[in-house]
Parts: sequence; structure tokens; C-alpha cells
Amino acid sequence: KTLSPALVAHLPTGLLVGGHWGPAAGGATFEVTDPATAEPIFDVSDATPADALRALDAAHAAAPAWRAVPPRERSDLLRAVFDRLVARADDIAALITAEAGKPLAEARAEVVYGAEFLRWFAEQAVRADGLVRTAPSGTNKQYVSRRPVGPTLLITPWNFPIAMATRKIAPALAAGCTVVIKPAELTPMTTLLVAEIIRSEAEARGLPTGIVNVVPTTQAGPVTEPLFEDPRLRKVSFTGSTRVGSLLLEQAAKNVLRSSMELGGNAPFVVFEDADLDAAVQGALIAKLRNSGQSCVAANRFLVHDAVAHTFAEKLAAAVGAKVTGPGTQPGAEVGPLINESAVEKVTGLVDDAVAHGAQVLTGGGRLDRPGHFFEPTVLTGISPDARIVTEEIFGPVAPIVAFGSDDEAYEMANGTPFGLAAYAYTTSLDRARRAMDDIEAGMIGINRGLVSDASAPFGGVKASGLGREGGEAGMEEYQETVYVAL
Ligand code: ADP
Repeated sequence: KTLSPALVAHLPTGLLVGGHWGPAAGGATFEVTDPATAEPIFDVSDATPADALRALDAAHAAAPAWRAVPPRERSDLLRAVFDRLVARADDIAALITAEAGKPLAEARAEVVYGAEFLRWFAEQAVRADGLVRTAPSGTNKQYVSRRPVGPTLLITPWNFPIAMATRKIAPALAAGCTVVIKPAELTPMTTLLVAEIIRSEAEARGLPTGIVNVVPTTQAGPVTEPLFEDPRLRKVSFTGSTRVGSLLLEQAAKNVLRSSMELGGNAPFVVFEDADLDAAVQGALIAKLRNSGQSCVAANRFLVHDAVAHTFAEKLAAAVGAKVTGPGTQPGAEVGPLINESAVEKVTGLVDDAVAHGAQVLTGGGRLDRPGHFFEPTVLTGISPDARIVTEEIFGPVAPIVAFGSDDEAYEMANGTPFGLAAYAYTTSLDRARRAMDDIEAGMIGINRGLVSDASAPFGGVKASGLGREGGEAGMEEYQETVYVAL
């Protein structure tokens, strides 16, 4: 199913502030384009700094009423939103494909994954942990409870338009926090639709409607910076580049703002000599080609033991070369376009640099000669350690294979990066698996699996890949203060 005129006619394109849709101050708008055609498809309101402050006013105004809503009612709202997202999965998938480019089947899988955060945090909303115990001295009781942290600012990237929004909105609401969300300017439409579904469901239940406010903008820095200065803002949760994340941490330092950061990765995909190579290839296809490689957990470097490197490379190149690349709406398309022209240029630059450093192209290697931002699924071998492709996040459908001689060497390479988000290891040996679980420096490790994301599990990184966790039990704690009372 593709985007129908009836759906398009009902899509919100304004700002959502205090439960009301409206234009940006001054009335400016910006275009959202279809990555498969490079044509504009939507006009969205372009929020100003004044709009963002109005949104914070609304989030602040709604906060006392929302935190007073019983957890069960917060839970019921989230569960109802889950049901509505699932019921509209085809519509939402069509919208994701239109603005982000990914194949419809992948977009639909993202809706299922994204909706799951609503269901998971509906289940968590009624399970806020606490503690009562006798102090070791015996003189008093210790009473520990959790409170919502308060109004939050959520800043999301373009690569998973529904999941990045729900992964933050759902735990915030579950914890009793209100939200200002600034979606990525390249893919704001899905967030606007999700926000409308939450708003209308809250309204139908007589709950406060100012709990989720949305400010799409082309001026991310100027629009969000005043919020960091405002003491009413109590928390920022960001997913995006390490460069911007570290800038936001500097801004957050001033008011000692609670911060969660999901930043860049450089995931190693390690294939040990005893791996099941066919399983490793299947896992590699998911870890590398999901969303055309435009994921912070995408496998960035394939580290493969010398003894199996050649066979793995041939098998992977055959499987990657057989993938059908095309517009997300084309039946049978398995790999969609990159998000925009600069993404194509960046990936082209990394491949050209690797080739200039001696890499061989086993399949793919360049952009597709057609409208839109398509890059061929590519496998490279003979990668020099000096090639930029092993240190930079590729964010494209390119798999560089680097051979290693010993397990120690594999760990040295896997951990030889400032990043530590996801990692993957394939082995049939229990001992090797156990060492990978202990010694790979990453927040998430897939053992004989190419996909780790799960709403019920803690998602996040170590080292320069971030602070805090989303999903799982930890996901809600990010939006709670711990309060201890000596009683
Ligand atoms: P990506 O490379 O995935 O686009 P970015 O870190 O540039 O990663 O963007 C992630 C999100 O951060 C987007 O919503 C973007 O608009 C926003 N963003 C970019 N720069 C800033 C900034 N200076 N202040 C606040 N948000 C920003």
C-alpha cells in the first residue's frame, strides 16, 4: 500500500502546541522530499525559537496534571495508542517510506518495532520501583521512591521516523513527564502523525492534551538552544551524531540538565574461524543492509578470520549482489535509497578512498544511475587500516571486510575505536562466545544474531556512543528522579 490521497489530506503538517495544531510564528514552512525521487512531497511548518518556548510553556503547564494522572490511566493511554498504531500500520509504513525511502516491508517492520515501545512502557508505567528498608544503624527507615523528572526535550534523527520518536515519547509519558519533541527536518511527518494519534486519544479520555508538543524546524540549533537556558526544562534525550550530542552536553552543563545521549557507532561484525558462515552471511545482510545501512547499530567493519575471510567475502558478495535496489514502493525492492544527496556523496567518498588505499570491489561500488539517492549495495575486501571507511560511520550499504589472524588481534581491532554502541560476533564455540560477551566494548552485542534492537531490552552505548539506555527497565528510569526519605 502506498500513500493514498485520502491519507495525505488528513496528515498534520503544523506545530502541535498545548493540544492545538497551528502554523509557525511568521508562517514559514519547509519542504520534505521523497529520497526515491528527490521531489518535494510535503510542506511542514518551520518552528522558530518563540514557537519552541511556547511548546515548553505548554509542556510545563501540562506537567502537574499529567504527573497526577494515575499510573494505570497513563498505561491505558499508551496501550490504546499502541493499538491505534498497529491498526494503522499500513498507513504509517507508507508515510515512512515516502519521507525516509526504506522499502515498505521494512517500514512496516519499523512500525511494529516502534509501536512496541508504547506497549512495553504501558506495561512499565504501573511498575515504578521503590524501596522501604531499615537503615543499617537501626535508627530509622529508608524510603526510596521515583518521581517524574519533569518537562523533557526530545531530539530525534531521520533514520527511523517512528521508532526514534516512540522510544523516547513512550517512556517519558509512562514516567509522568511531558514532552517537547523536535523531529529531524528530513522526516518530520511520521512524528506529527504519531503526536496527533496521542493527542486525539488523550482528548477522548479527558486527559491533558499538552503532554506531547511537536516543533519541526530547519533551525535545530537556534530553536532548541533557548530551551537549554530555561530552568523549566528538566531533561534532554537526544539521538544523533556524536558531534551534536557532545555540543548538547555542553549546553546541558549550564543548568546541569539530565541528559540521555544515543550517539554514533562503528559496530564491528566479527566472524571467528569456527563460525557458521551461512548464518553469518544472513546476519550480515540484516546488520548491514537494514535501512540501506543508515542505522547507528549497522555493522560498519566486518572483521573475519584469515581462514574463512575469502569464503565469507564470496558468499557475502553473492548475497549482497543479488539484492534488488529500488524505490521503497517498488514491489520486491529490498534496498531503498539513501536519505539525500550529501549521504550519497559521503558514501561515495568513503568507497573511493578505500579503493585508493588498495581495496577491491567485489560487488557494487558506486551510485545507481537513476533519479533519487541510490547507492549500490557494495562489498569491499583488502581494506587498509588507513582507509577512512574503518574509522568513520559509513551510514550506507557498504561492507568493508578486514581479515584478522588471531582472536587477540580481532579484539584489538574491534575495540580500537572511540565508539561502543553495537557489536556482532559469530562463532560456534561457547568459549569464544563467552569472551565476546565479556571483552567487546559495546553496549549491545549480538552473538550469532544480526539484530539486537528490542523494546524490552536496554539500548545504548559505551564510550563516545552515548549516555543512558532506552527501552527495557532502564528506559523509564531515564525519565525519573530517585528520591530518598529518612523516615
Ligand atoms: P544525523 O547525522 O543523523 O542527521 P544529527 O546529529 O545532525 O545527526 O541530527 C540529529 C538530530 O539533531 C536532528 O533532529 C537534527 O535536526 C538535530 N540537531 C542538529 N544540530 C543540532 C543542534 N545544534 N542543536 C539541537 N539539535 C540539533
